[in-house]
Amino acid sequence: MLSITKIFHFEAAHTISCYHGQCKNIHGHSYELHVTITGEELNDYNMLIDFKELKKIVGLNVTNDFDHALILKASDENIANYKTLNTKIHWLNAEPTAEFLIMEIAKRIMENLPEKIKLKKLKLFETASCYAEWEND
Ligand SMILES: [Zn+2]
Repeated sequence: MLSITKIFHFEAAHTISCYHGQCKNIHGHSYELHVTITGEELNDYNMLIDFKELKKIVGLNVTNDFDHALILKASDENIANYKTLNTKIHWLNAEPTAEFLIMEIAKRIMENLPEKIKLKKLKLFETASCYAEWEND
């Protein structure tokens, strides 16, 4: 089946606060997100979706929230420790691992795609050699 992929980048900091090790410290990643969509039919321009439209959907619902943010689980401990920081914090209801972030991103994109377009696959790179993958089944 036909599909198209667009690649996005965002910079974000996070901490895996329940983890006993280096990831407990606030640190940053240059995330790379691959968004693959599919559909049954092409539109009047022979496209599944205009890449510009896909950029807008992912921008409004994903990268605008995450880019240059500190991404944290909204736990009592994190709220007490970090809420007064004068910075952009994006609160989530679970630890912001690559695995949780990719599931959250999938949900946000699926909720906002046009009716005839389906999200097929996501890859979220935390580093050049580490990524999480999500596939629609
Ligand atoms: Zn990390």
